Amino acid sequence: MSVIYKPTGMAREYSPYALNIYIGCSHRCKYCYAPGTLQRRADCYFGTPSPRKNILRLAEADLQKTVYREQILLSFVGDVYCDSADGGATTRAMLELLNTYNAPVAVLSKGGSKMLRDLDVFKAFGNRIAVGTTLTFMDERKSAEWEPFASSPEERLQTLKTLHDAGIKTFASFEPTIEPSESIKLIERTLSDNSVDHYKIGKINHYRDADKWQDWRQYLIDCVNLLRPANKQVYYKFCLRKLAPDVELTLQEKNPDEYIVRV
Ligand code: SF4
Repeated sequence: MSVIYKPTGMAREYSPYALNIYIGCSHRCKYCYAPGTLQRRADCYFGTPSPRKNILRLAEADLQKTVYREQILLSFVGDVYCDSADGGATTRAMLELLNTYNAPVAVLSKGGSKMLRDLDVFKAFGNRIAVGTTLTFMDERKSAEWEPFASSPEERLQTLKTLHDAGIKTFASFEPTIEPSESIKLIERTLSDNSVDHYKIGKINHYRDADKWQDWRQYLIDCVNLLRPANKQVYYKFCLRKLAPDVELTLQEKNPDEYIVRV
């Protein structure tokens, strides 16, 4: 059984390969798609996950069979820096394993400063890794309402800054964007911190009618006006682009693979 897999659909816009270590998550985001995708009851998914059985052995078998030249994302299901039953030991061991096989890796988490416990491993990858976080709200109260057990916005912002200052390539995912004005404030903050190398920008999808009131065209224009003059690497997801077809974007801004990690 291959545990390193090729995502499809909207997930493919994020990464050519992915690997899920934990099937469950302690962050309990309101909009989490994982229980629905896995056809699990929410109370079976949210909690303190254990690593998947034999996940290190199975990943090593994949790495022995295949040379991965494009990034493997940790992870689409679960968060490798949530409150897991093993205290993140398997995340660290997996990173070490992936590095041993010279695999390119991207890590996306809302775990905040927990990510920094593996800073030495990130550094060992050199330019074969990008480490990122999802940014949703600047407002702590709104963040706590939507992502109650994830790290606070300030902790995520500080973690990005620490990673970037340590020489790690960083990225920020603005998917979901729930309130465009909050996301714009976060983009402005990361620009003033100079903490993010690459931005992925989308919108909330598939959560009740949460995307029905925003002016998505104006949001896209505001993002372009902020990020283009700053010369940042940006990818705009199709779900956002398709709502503003008259807004001209560059080929790079529309290419999901333009800024992925490769070897
Ligand atoms: S961090 Fe990701 S996997 Fe965890 S609850 Fe939030 S959306 Fe779901």
